[in-house]
Amino acid sequence: MDEYVKGPEPDRWHWSKSCKQYPRVVIYKRSNRPSSDLCDDCLDIERVALRKIAPV
Ligand SMILES: [Zn+2]
Repeated sequence: MDEYVKGPEPDRWHWSKSCKQYPRVVIYKRSNRPSSDLCDDCLDIERVALRKIAPV
């Protein structure tokens, strides 16, 4: 299960450990996907990973 973490403000939610902006200090943590403030890098990584599992 993915874990969504957020560093000190004004950070956004990260869930990919390979994200360059993944916070070193985790301030917030949740297990369900936040509806806003998602990290663009994490979204990109996720999109690539999904493409690998199910190529279009
Ligand atoms: Zn991220």
